[in-house]
Amino acid sequence: MGFGLCIFNKVIQKISEADMKRALGQLKRKLPGRVQADLATREYASVDNLRISILPDAVIQVKKAEEVGVVLKLANRYGVPVTARGAGSSATGSAVPVSSGWVLDLSLLKSIKLNQYSKIVSVEPGVLTDVLQTKMARYGLFYPPDPSSKKYSTIGGNIACNAGGMHCVKYGVTRDYVLGLEGYLANGAFVEWGLPLKKFVSGLNLRDLWIGSEGTLGIVTKAHLKLIPLPEKRWMGMFAFKNEKSALSCVSRILKAGILPSLCEFLDRQSVDCAERFTGRTIFKGASNVSLLIIELDGTSEALRQQKKALLEITESRALDFTEAKTEKASEAILKVRRLCSQSMYSIADTKLNEDVVVPIERQYDLIRYTLELRKEIGLATPTFGHAGDGNLHVHIMYNRSSANERKRAKKGILKLMKFVVSLGGSITGEHGIGLAKAPFMKLQHSKEAIEAMQSVKNALDPKGILNPGKIFHPFEVWDYTTVDKKMPWDH
Ligand SMILES: Cc1cc2nc3c(=O)[nH]c(=O)nc-3n(C[C@H](O)[C@H](O)[C@H](O)COP(=O)(O)OP(=O)(O)OC[C@H]3O[C@@H](n4cnc5c(N)ncnc54)[C@H](O)[C@@H]3O)c2cc1C
Repeated sequence: MGFGLCIFNKVIQKISEADMKRALGQLKRKLPGRVQADLATREYASVDNLRISILPDAVIQVKKAEEVGVVLKLANRYGVPVTARGAGSSATGSAVPVSSGWVLDLSLLKSIKLNQYSKIVSVEPGVLTDVLQTKMARYGLFYPPDPSSKKYSTIGGNIACNAGGMHCVKYGVTRDYVLGLEGYLANGAFVEWGLPLKKFVSGLNLRDLWIGSEGTLGIVTKAHLKLIPLPEKRWMGMFAFKNEKSALSCVSRILKAGILPSLCEFLDRQSVDCAERFTGRTIFKGASNVSLLIIELDGTSEALRQQKKALLEITESRALDFTEAKTEKASEAILKVRRLCSQSMYSIADTKLNEDVVVPIERQYDLIRYTLELRKEIGLATPTFGHAGDGNLHVHIMYNRSSANERKRAKKGILKLMKFVVSLGGSITGEHGIGLAKAPFMKLQHSKEAIEAMQSVKNALDPKGILNPGKIFHPFEVWDYTTVDKKMPWDH
């Protein structure tokens, strides 16, 4: 913990202890009852799903959007670091208050207002993704972005990370549904980027700069989101393949044929093995040591019939076998297997590097082949699953944190993996963002000039560097940090 602080003190203007005390005292007077500085609350806000813990000085649980402006005005005056927090499910450490200071907890801002004429819903940032989806479904409307964490993650966090999910292959990511944002600049000024309108092209598009900026450019207090009609019907099948090559070449074939699944998830044999160890049962009945595809189609009855026919013609000669979900419950059971993959990996080692890389669709097997080569070279498991319809695969390198030797090999593996991904024309992250964990790889992905341009934007919008300092641009070697054993709400 001390190590982290000594690096990140340099990131923002240093604030004296006396000023910190003064700022906190003023904050408590301006927002009575909102500021918590007890150890339990600070510990809760110190960590996200990366599980690196750095204590903030205080946590502010705002109950009205205007209170965000009050917090930021004071923070800006004194130079106090402010890290926004939704549910803390970030996979990269982006919600960890790495420079201490204040955590701004937005999870209590939960209003939802639907305009039934425009089908635009205006929501506060603390609304949970799943709650929004479920509520809108009652009106026959669909908000598609669905990170696997959707039961826990907030819309504010989804916007700040530009979250993806399983339905992105057909419906796109969070950015594709954000029509307008309201929020506060680092200096506490209220701003609107767009309105609850279908069209808005006035001025520079700072809305899109905020989306995916991980709380480093401003704080979202309202989002106007586009909704689409709920698909009439769905169909889901799980397909077993003898190896990863036949599974992934089948995905390329399906997409090339013009079939657009609403979900296309891939599991390599290592991931299936982890899920089997974890659940104690065979995942695909009657077939062991297989790679899997989970494919969902949706649309009208007629469209579904035609797509299913075309799909089964392609899979017939390629898959060993398939099983279809006859009910919603059966579909949910299939997806549950996919969702528990992540957690099940802890049955082989206690720590993982979780990389959500993206490669061109037709190069996905090249990536898998490389993970298998790496596995041999570094002697650590590399289970991989993910959104094969988008080329967005989650490669994991599993190691035991108490072993310096395994940590060293994991580091070697991750550096090689990222170089390989970029050499394929890929991206170091497709949905989790940079946070702390991906910061060492920024230079692989972006030129010096591109990084400097990004930093100029940051400096223009947050000249004192108070918003989420220490993230994206500052080297952080995650494998040098001890992660904490903390049960999170999404842990099974
Ligand atoms: C089990 C599991 C599965 C996951 N699956 C997926 C997946 O399929 N796809 C995917 O994309 N991600 C996935 N994630 C990662 C994570 O859930 C997403 O990044 C999610 O968007 C984070 O939301 P949150 O509310 O937890 O945000 P937090 O973790 O609290 O914060 C994330 C970032 O957003 C900033 N932030 C939060 N609220 C605001 C706000 N109102 N204004 C400005 N900045 C803000 C924070 O400062 C931080 O930088 C998964 C995580 C877990 C644990």
